[in-house]
Amino acid sequence: MSDADCLFCKIVAQEVPAEVVHVTERTVAFRDINPQAPTHVLVVPRDHYENAAALAAGDPVASAELVTAAAAVATAEGHADYRLVFNTGAGVGQTVFHTHLHMLAGRPMTWPPG
Ligand code: C5P
Repeated sequence: MSDADCLFCKIVAQEVPAEVVHVTERTVAFRDINPQAPTHVLVVPRDHYENAAALAAGDPVASAELVTAAAAVATAEGHADYRLVFNTGAGVGQTVFHTHLHMLAGRPMTWPPG
């Protein structure tokens, strides 16, 4: 399930370059091109779903795999503490409409987020 116009589908298909750090059967993790923390990785499902809720409804196994993949990357990079974020909707900052889990680590973080 892929969308010909989707940037992250193209990264999954290796048609657009990215620094891939982890792959699983259903997910690909790569470094964010504009990192907001010393470690900032995006974990995406191989299949195209618009947001986290659509993925959870359509493929709950892949949805869980995003989280376990993010945790594996955090551990591999030496981070016990990390933040996971799904932006859902343009109003809260979603700019790419292919589900992606942000994994941020390596600096102190405040709450609430901006
Ligand atoms: O949650 P949001 O949709 O804003 O996140 C999209 C993320 O994709 C941004 O953090 C942006 O830096 C990242 N990005 C990327 N590689 C691209 C285009 C966008 O890592 N080629």
